[in-house]
Amino acid sequence: MNSNEIEIHKELKKYFGFSQFKGLQEQVITSILNKKNTFVIMPTGGGKSLCYQLPALIQEGTAIVVSPLIALMKNQVDAIRSLSSENGIAHVLNSSLTKTEIAQVKKDITSGLTKLLYVAPESLTKEEYVAFLQSVPISFVAIDEAHCISEWGHDFRPEYRNLKNIIKQLGQVPIIGLTATATPKVQEDILKNLDMSDANTFKASFNRPNLYYEVRTKTKNIESDIIRFIKQHKGKSGIIYCLSRKKVESIAEVLQVNGISAVPYHAGLDAKTRAKHQDMFLMEDVDVVVATIAFGMGIDKPDVRFVIHHDIPKSLESYYQETGRAGRDGGEGHCLAYYSYKDVEKLEKFMSGKPVAEQEIGFALLQEVVAYAETSMSRRKFLLHYFGEEFDSETGEGADMDDNVRNPKNKIEAKDQVVK
Ligand code: ADP
Ligand code: MG
Repeated sequence: MNSNEIEIHKELKKYFGFSQFKGLQEQVITSILNKKNTFVIMPTGGGKSLCYQLPALIQEGTAIVVSPLIALMKNQVDAIRSLSSENGIAHVLNSSLTKTEIAQVKKDITSGLTKLLYVAPESLTKEEYVAFLQSVPISFVAIDEAHCISEWGHDFRPEYRNLKNIIKQLGQVPIIGLTATATPKVQEDILKNLDMSDANTFKASFNRPNLYYEVRTKTKNIESDIIRFIKQHKGKSGIIYCLSRKKVESIAEVLQVNGISAVPYHAGLDAKTRAKHQDMFLMEDVDVVVATIAFGMGIDKPDVRFVIHHDIPKSLESYYQETGRAGRDGGEGHCLAYYSYKDVEKLEKFMSGKPVAEQEIGFALLQEVVAYAETSMSRRKFLLHYFGEEFDSETGEGADMDDNVRNPKNKIEAKDQVVK
C-alpha cells in the first residue's frame, strides 16, 4: 500500500468503523480524490453512499449531494452526524427550512464545518442558493440516483435534466454520478446529460447469487397461492408489490383475515400512516408489507426473505430494484412474480393515455418483462444480459437459483438434442 492508500483506509476506520472497502469503493474514492469526473454503477446495497461521503469528509470544502427524496437525505444526514460530534458536518437544504435554519446552514458552510450538503434537485435551481454556493469552496457535486436523469430509467425526474447547467455555474467542480441502474441505455443518457463522457467509470457486477427467481402463471387462485407461500415462510419478512392501491388494500386485508400480520403501504395513505407502517415493518411488528412501488426506495432492511410481485412490474429495472430488496444480508431471498398476459394488456392500456414518446419507451420496456417472464432460459442470465453483463449459466455464482434451471420446462427439446 502506498501512503495514500494507507491514509484512506485509516479514514475509513476512523469515520465508519469498517476495516475494508467493499467492492470498487477504494478505486472510486481514489478517482474522486484525484478530482476526476466519476461514474459509479453498483447495485443497491453495494455501498455507493460511502464512495462520496468519505472523500467529502476528508477534503477541503463542501460536497453537494443531489438526491431525489427528502426521506433519503434525512437518513443520510442523521447517519453522518452520528459519526461526528458536530451537527453542522452535514446539512439538508430544502424548501421546508425556516429562515433561521437556512442562515445556520450557510454559516456552517462558510466556516468550513459542513462537509456534505444534501439538496433536492429543485432546490438547487433556486437562484439564491446558486449564488451562495458560487461564493464558497465546493469539493465536488455527487448526483445520487443519477438514473433519474433518463427517460429510460425507472424514475425519471425532469429536474435532473437541469443539473448540468447549474453545476457549470459553480465553476470547475468534478461530478460524481451514482446509480444502481445498469442498462446501457440509461448509462449513455447519464453520461450525455451530465456531459461527462470523460468520466472514470466503475461498474460492479449486478449478480445477486443468493436471490432465487421464480415466475408463476397467475390464476384465479393467486390469493391462496400467496397465503400458502407466506405460511411456508412463517415469521419471515416479506414485501408484496401490487400495481394498484385498491389491490394493495384488498391483499393486505385477505392476509390479515388469514392470520398473517400484514400492513398496506401506498401513496394514498396519509404520511403518518405510511411512516407507521414502514416502521412496523422495519421493527418487525409485522411480517409483511403489501405495497405499491411507492414503498422501498432507500429502505435498508437486511433480512427481507421474499419479494412477491402480485402484478408484473413495468420494466426489468423496476423488477431488479424491487426484488433486490430481498436478501440484502446475503441470506435467503425468494423472488416470486405472478404473470398473466392480461396484466400486460392492462399495463399497455394504462400507457395508451400517455404522450407518444413515453408510450414507445413504456411498450419497449414492458416487452422485455414479457420476454423475461416467458423465457425458459436461466433467469439470472437473462436479467444480467439485460444489464449488459455476461453470465455463465453453468458455472456462474448462483447459477442454479431459479425455477427454469431447477425445473427445465423444455425437457423434450433437451432430450432431442442429446439424441442428435
Ligand atoms: P447503495 O447506496 O449502493 O444502495 P449504501 O450506501 O446504502 O448502498 O450502503 C449499503 C450498506 O453497506 C450500508 O449499510 C453501509 O453501511 C454498508 N457498507 C458500505 N460500505 C461498507 C464497507 N466498506 N464495509 C462494510 N459495510 C459497508
Ligand atoms: Mg444509495
